Amino acid sequence: MNIVRFAPSPTGFLHIGGARTCLFNWLFARSTQGKFVLRIEDTDLNRSEKQYVDEILDSLKWLGLNWDELYYQSKRFNLYQEYAFSLLNSGKAYKEGTATIFKVPKNTQVTIYDLIHGKIVIDTEQIKDQVLIKSDGSPAYNFCCVLDDALMGITHIIRGDDHIANTPKQILLYEALGFKLPKFVHIPMILGEDKTRLSKRHGATSISEYKRQGYLPDAIVNYLALLGWSSGNNREIFNLQALAKEFSIKRINKTAAIFDLNRLKWVNGYYIKNLELQNLVELLVPYLEKQGYITEDFDWLRGLVKLYKTRFQTLPRFLELTKFFFEDSVDYQTQAKDEFLKSEQAADYLEKLKTLLEQGNFSTVENIEHIVRTLVQGLNISASTLIHPARVALTGGTVSPGIFEIIYFLGKEKCVKRLSFVIEKIRNNWENTQT
Ligand code: GLU
Repeated sequence: MNIVRFAPSPTGFLHIGGARTCLFNWLFARSTQGKFVLRIEDTDLNRSEKQYVDEILDSLKWLGLNWDELYYQSKRFNLYQEYAFSLLNSGKAYKEGTATIFKVPKNTQVTIYDLIHGKIVIDTEQIKDQVLIKSDGSPAYNFCCVLDDALMGITHIIRGDDHIANTPKQILLYEALGFKLPKFVHIPMILGEDKTRLSKRHGATSISEYKRQGYLPDAIVNYLALLGWSSGNNREIFNLQALAKEFSIKRINKTAAIFDLNRLKWVNGYYIKNLELQNLVELLVPYLEKQGYITEDFDWLRGLVKLYKTRFQTLPRFLELTKFFFEDSVDYQTQAKDEFLKSEQAADYLEKLKTLLEQGNFSTVENIEHIVRTLVQGLNISASTLIHPARVALTGGTVSPGIFEIIYFLGKEKCVKRLSFVIEKIRNNWENTQT
């Protein structure tokens, strides 16, 4: 059975790179009916924090990456001490003060057979003796990592290739301890668009931050999978189950992946579009509440979300797009206003529209369409001659879903108020106004 592990150090939040490493391990386990172990590498007692442990576990759960076993290295110090003793006893390690140091064999070579990078040979002349137990009594990373990987029966070490320099040191420890070597799979790094290693400079890096920014877990997982792996057939949309079916180590790329926020947004937009309407509404409600846009009329809200569902790629973007439905005043885009809300004729048309809407029946979108079309015919103008200024007057901009739906969802009162406001402004040449 394949047994893999994800081994984060809780010295920071779970970031994109860590989450991708975790995902690849999880996918490998699930695609081969293997086991996925989560191991918290909290041996550095000064830098490890409980809040990071919690955040890592929460993020993994949110992404749907469930684990079969969970270990904390901080609870295994005795075990590491025992093995340090045995290496001391067999003469493979020595004491330096209170620290225990591993004697690296001289004049020999270590060979890594990496499933992605191939064969790598390192001369032990390049490797210094290794600290096993630090002078404060805490075990060093390479030592507990090897012990745990061996004792937990890990068959494949799948991790970022920033760890490749540790691998020869770890292989020497496997040999000294008489453990069987696992297979090594070092996955290429994730870079920012400027081809430097992905970091805070490139924007949000932690999974919890993406969660806060309104990304969906399925979209993150989908996008992470594409960061360094491909299905081989141009398919781009995969949920976890589909990924677990398709995943293979062979299809992990050999070159670094570039993180592309626009691609992530696109994937997120895809998932938003394809979410059940009710689920999408429920996800949006907390954002609406936070903004004070609470509404009792859930049918109305559901309709509005349906109207906009193909137009936003992150949840908070919905609020930006639909702000004018919730707020009393409208931000008029200068260019839109200058182009459509300046002429006396526009004011006249809007006045006529206002009068008809005031008396009109708002019970269906069709009724509203009928009112507008009848007016257009009566005036003998093209529909756009009326619709363009009406759109700007009601929404503040030139881009929106269909105007009949906009009027319907705004409701009679807001439409009439907004049209009156704009008509008056046009007739006063927008004097004494900030917008
Ligand atoms: N705790 C190490 C890290 O977070 C784990 C490295 C490994 O997977 O061996 O980088």
